[in-house]
Amino acid sequence: MGEEKKMLSLVVPAYNEEAVLEVFYRETERVTARMDVEIEYLFVDDGSKDRTLSILREMAARDKRVHYVSFSRNFGKEAAIYAGLQNAVGDYVVIMDADLQDPPTLLPQMLEAVVKDGYDCVGTRRISRKGEPPVRSFFARLFYKLINRVSKTEIVDGARDYQLMSRKVVEAILSMGEYNRFSKGIFGWVGYRKQWLEYENIERAAGETKWSFWKLLLYAMDGIIAFSTAPLVLSSVLGFLFCIIAVVMTIVIIIRTCVFGDPTPGWPSLACIIIFVAGIQLFCLGILGQYLAKAYLETKKRPIYLVSEEVLGEKERLLDK
Ligand code: UDP
Ligand code: MG
Repeated sequence: MGEEKKMLSLVVPAYNEEAVLEVFYRETERVTARMDVEIEYLFVDDGSKDRTLSILREMAARDKRVHYVSFSRNFGKEAAIYAGLQNAVGDYVVIMDADLQDPPTLLPQMLEAVVKDGYDCVGTRRISRKGEPPVRSFFARLFYKLINRVSKTEIVDGARDYQLMSRKVVEAILSMGEYNRFSKGIFGWVGYRKQWLEYENIERAAGETKWSFWKLLLYAMDGIIAFSTAPLVLSSVLGFLFCIIAVVMTIVIIIRTCVFGDPTPGWPSLACIIIFVAGIQLFCLGILGQYLAKAYLETKKRPIYLVSEEVLGEKERLLDK
């Protein structure tokens, strides 16, 4: 009896991906066929409204290494990643997008870095953003600059969720059971020895992106709130600053009144000041509210996702006992 082959689980979140699933499977098969490792596909259907689930059913019936979890509704990519990591049984796990923007051709190199070179995980980052609207790239860069300044956790610019990990890292990520999941931060937070691979941006094979500018903006804000409390400090600093300004202005006005008397003009500027300060107050209250809202959601301890249907491997059933 030889040593049992190690298993690599491919966790693939899929939301309305009927156009690319088969292509993804074919391309990945071509690469993994040459790799000396057993493969498990673990698709996570994130409440798709198209034929994604029926394609997954067909694929699972055809190939017993294809497993899937199907959510009761759309819970978002972060929840899909979490479900994938929870259900994957491989010794190594890699997270990949279904649209081939995470090139499977990198897999052999990634696996080697973990198996042979002793890394705990291998991350990938794109060094260009070609094919992306310039406005989006600009705000993305701004976001990374900002979040790295305010957060102690390093969040690498251009880092993808395409990452191959050893079991140890998977368990570490799963131990972070927070409801507000921001993977880019979580991956950095857990640490471990990590190698980075770089590649040029690749455009989606088919179908279209699920991220509107607005969705990305909210996601960015969630990320900052999840991995930094700097905005709260900002509101305290602003409050303090305005107190100082108010004191200085009062002194100036008292002196001016004593010297020049009290002519009444000046109310328009007063109105401006009142509105401005009220604005700052609402802004700070808003920041506070954001943290409170997140804390509120965390304390509810709602499940991160709900499953409506799943096909998992043998190993998983054994683990269940
Ligand atoms: N995705 C998901 N749930 C969502 C949105 C996206 O599971 O609510 C998946 C999607 O199917 C894809 C991956 O996340 O496999 C990345 O999404 P997309 O390609 O739309 O994002 P982009 O590459 O444009 O940032
Ligand atoms: Mg994509």
